[in-house]
Amino acid sequence: MTARLHNFCAGPCTLPVAVLEEVRDELLDFNGLGMSIIEDSHRAPAYEAIHHGAVASFRDLAEVPDDFVVLFLQGGATLQFAQVPLNLLADDETAGYVNTGAWATKALSDASRIAGAYESWTDAEGGFSRVPSSDRELEVRPGTRYIHVTSNETIGGIRFPDFPDVDIPIVADMSSDFLSRPIDWDRFDLVYGGAQKNLGPAGLGIVVARRDRLGVHGRSLPSYLDYAVHESADSMANTPPMFAIYVMGKMLTWMTESGGLGEFESRATQRASLIYGAIEASDGWYRSPVEESSRSLMNVVFRLPDEDLEKRFVAEAAEAGMVNLKGHRSVGGIRASVYNAMPLESVEALVAFMAGFFAANS
Ligand code: PMP
Repeated sequence: MTARLHNFCAGPCTLPVAVLEEVRDELLDFNGLGMSIIEDSHRAPAYEAIHHGAVASFRDLAEVPDDFVVLFLQGGATLQFAQVPLNLLADDETAGYVNTGAWATKALSDASRIAGAYESWTDAEGGFSRVPSSDRELEVRPGTRYIHVTSNETIGGIRFPDFPDVDIPIVADMSSDFLSRPIDWDRFDLVYGGAQKNLGPAGLGIVVARRDRLGVHGRSLPSYLDYAVHESADSMANTPPMFAIYVMGKMLTWMTESGGLGEFESRATQRASLIYGAIEASDGWYRSPVEESSRSLMNVVFRLPDEDLEKRFVAEAAEAGMVNLKGHRSVGGIRASVYNAMPLESVEALVAFMAGFFAANS
C-alpha cells in the first residue's frame, strides 16, 4: 500500500483507513450483489438497508430524540443557508444571526433574501477573533423565531464552547464540528451541516429538525426545498447521494465502535491541546489570532512572524508528509484541520515539526 500522508485538509478531509479499506473491498462486488452499491437501484433492498441503517446510526450516535427528523439532502451546507429560512420562517417572520465570521456572514446573506433576518451580534470590527462572551451581548428582537449560530467557523478557527443561553430556539450550522461533541437537543429547533469534514465524503447535507417545525412556513415551495417532502419520503424523494450516505454509514459505525461522542470530544480536546500547546511553547513566535476561550478544536489557525516563513512552513511540512496546512485564501496563515477521523499520530507529527521549525528559524 502507498504511504498515506498526514492530511490536515479543511474539507473534504481524512477518513479512517478502516472505513476506506471496507469501501475498497466492497467496491467491485457488494456482499455478493455482483456489482457495487453505487451501481444498483436506490430502491433495491441492498441500498435501502444501507440508507435506513445510516439514519439509525446517526440517530443512535447523536442521541437524536424522537420528535426530531433526520434528513439526508444534497446541496451541502450552502443550500441550508436558504432552505432553513424558507422552511422555518414565514414571509413576515424574523430570525437573528450571530455573525462570527465567513460562514455566518454567508448564512445571514442568504436568509436576508428570504425573510426578515437580522444580525444579532458581530465581531467584524475585531477581525472575527471570538464568539460573544455573554448572551447579553446578543440583540434579540421581539418576535424572533430562532437565533442562528455557526458552531465552528472553519476559516477563522472560532467555536462556541457553549451555545448562547437564550430563551428562543437555536439553529446551528455544525458543518465543521458535527458530532465532535454531544448535542443538547432541548436547545435547538434545527441543526445542519455538510458531511465532508467530520462524517464522510462530500455530496451530502444533513438536517436534524424538530418535526413540528416542518410544513408551517405558509409558502408554496418547490418540492426539493420543502423539508416535509423529504421527511415523508425518508430522504428518498429523489435519488439520494448513495455513495456519500454509504460511506458515512460506515464512518458512523466506526465512531460508535470507537466509543461514541464522549470519546470523540476527548480526542478533539487532546488533538487541539497538543497544537495550541506548541503555539504557546514558542512564546509568541507562533501566534493564534483567536481569543483563548473561543479557539476551535477542529481548525487550529495560527500565524508565523511573516508570510515568507509561513510559505516555507507549508512547503517544508509537505516535504515531511504533512499536507493541506495553508490557511484559507481569504485570511492567509496556517490552518491545521483536525476532524473526527484525524489520527493522533498525525497531530504528534505536526507538533514535532512545529518545534523543529521554530528551533531552526526563530
Ligand atoms: N458552513 C461551514 C461552517 C463550512 O465550513 C462550510 C464549508 N467549508 C459550509 C458551511 C459550506 O458547506 P458546503 O460546501 O457543504 O456547502
